[in-house]
Amino acid sequence: MHKGLANAGAKAVVAAHALLDIANGALLQEEAEARLRTQLGLHWSVLTCIQYLSGKEAVGALKALPDEWSEHGRTKLDLLQAVVMALAVVSEARGSRGGKVSGSKLALRLQEVRATAFGGGGVELTFTAPSYALLNSSTSCWKCGERTPVTSVWVPSFVDFADVEEPEDVPEVGGVATLRGIQDLDDQVAAHVRQVAPWLKLGHSETAQATYWVNHCHHCDALQGDYFVMGVNGPFSPQFHVEADALELIPGRGPLHAHASAAQSGWMDWIAERLAV
Ligand SMILES: [Zn+2]
Repeated sequence: MHKGLANAGAKAVVAAHALLDIANGALLQEEAEARLRTQLGLHWSVLTCIQYLSGKEAVGALKALPDEWSEHGRTKLDLLQAVVMALAVVSEARGSRGGKVSGSKLALRLQEVRATAFGGGGVELTFTAPSYALLNSSTSCWKCGERTPVTSVWVPSFVDFADVEEPEDVPEVGGVATLRGIQDLDDQVAAHVRQVAPWLKLGHSETAQATYWVNHCHHCDALQGDYFVMGVNGPFSPQFHVEADALELIPGRGPLHAHASAAQSGWMDWIAERLAV
């Protein structure tokens, strides 16, 4: 089977099908492991399968499939969802201070990741983080001059799959960061933001020519853009430890999935120190 595919391609395709079947609830972990043995001759656990799918070889092989490729009712894009799920699970395992993903909970976790990342409207939420926190500050509105609260989303580490387009591309993996240019947030994080930071909401930026999650003035509703709040002298550009400590910290409620990019700066490490206490 899988004639015409390179070995890496065959492995990646079988592994991705298995992971998606587990996430769908169509396949038990033991059945998946039996299938990998039969079809590939590999004695892989589901965790090995996940680790393989999150790696360079599998990502490259799946990206190299023709766009019109399909098999067992799945398209190339469907199989790439398996990679995003695998990356999320692997990055969570790394984020939990070296703790391993428990074998018995893998299937459940895969189902959750899939529902969170792909449940809403089929938007590809390529940016995943094992956890997050909301940072609150305030600024003077550039338009009306009143003080208004502003919020930034902080993550301890992330994997971003957005720019993986060629076989040799690898996902961007980084440490502490804040999100900018947030075009989409998963439902759970979006609900949390609406509850505790309602001024951070979808708005259309004429400058950026895009709709994204951006701070709005509490008084006049003017957009307080990322460039403004994260720029030099902005509330999210602390120079000193004491300024970073003054940011209000609201712990998140689980992992984060988004369509966004990462901004990284030294002060963001200080937030990690506060969360570790
Ligand atoms: Zn204003």
